[in-house]
Amino acid sequence: MSFIIERLAVVGVGLIGGSFACALRDAGVVKTVVGIGRSRANLEQALSLGIIDEISYSAADGVRDAQLVFISVPVCSIPATVQEIASALSPGCIVTDGGSVKAEIVQECEGLMPPGCFFVGGHPIAGTEHSGAAAAFSTLYRGKRCILTPTNNTDPAALDIVSRLWEATGAIVCSMEPGHHDRILAEISHLPHVVAYALVHAVGTADAEGENVLSYTAGGFRDFTRIASSDPVMWRDIALMNRKALLSSIDGFSASLATLRQRIDNHDSEGLAEFFTIAKQFRDGIL
Ligand code: NAP
Repeated sequence: MSFIIERLAVVGVGLIGGSFACALRDAGVVKTVVGIGRSRANLEQALSLGIIDEISYSAADGVRDAQLVFISVPVCSIPATVQEIASALSPGCIVTDGGSVKAEIVQECEGLMPPGCFFVGGHPIAGTEHSGAAAAFSTLYRGKRCILTPTNNTDPAALDIVSRLWEATGAIVCSMEPGHHDRILAEISHLPHVVAYALVHAVGTADAEGENVLSYTAGGFRDFTRIASSDPVMWRDIALMNRKALLSSIDGFSASLATLRQRIDNHDSEGLAEFFTIAKQFRDGIL
């Protein structure tokens, strides 16, 4: 990497922001990292883990003199955060984010940039079900995709720098139009999360006989529902912000489940075998 970020500000030092800082530090491309957040316990943990060098409880104060600001708070809070920091940004500063929904964020944040500052939307396709600074680790992005979502307004030099920073984390960078990103992520990430939450919710609350059915769960149920342990606030925000695309994905899934239900109800053994075979072929194809 032929440049160094002297001062990186991370707003929201959790799994995504903390891992971004760790990976860039490991790659030797950042000097000082200031962590910005609300909770003293989380930021002090980030400091003691060596993820950040300085703490700020004020986003506007924390971003002063930073060349790069990375925003990794729940998606509905990203535009408000950018609004809060806009007037404190140094000339030439690049603001980028790791939010899981892009169209609304990119449109709002581009409009909030003061002259001479640049916004680049991004989303690493990497994560775990754990939250907070303690969950961060420097290899999270290695070999994983990071989708950048430039528009006609995106500054090419800022896009190049953000792209090279993600490459320094070990990520494989690709670009996509923000709305396209949101439709794809609704299918491959947001739908599986709502289905996992719905499944655990249904089984947990339908235990009419009080048999504590969840205590009998084994590999299949646990594998399938791991992501239902993710942070509820983060997923509330994603569901609300990507509402339109997610509703369409839920409708498609509901139709698929209704077909399956009908074939089970009809004792349609051929139809069931065909359904499961097609699904297995899709699943085997991605491994
Ligand atoms: P996280 O581990 O919970 O970290 C987010 C941090 O932001 C928290 O530690 C919290 O720190 C701060 N924060 C939380 N709510 C806030 C609010 N309302 N306003 C301001 N700050 C707030 O979450 P994460 O998994 O890193 O996710 C961060 C972003 O990355 C989200 O936009 C998410 O959509 C995106 N993302 C997540 C994943 C994933 O798998 N987890 C993957 C890709 C992208 P303080 O308590 O100190 O404020």
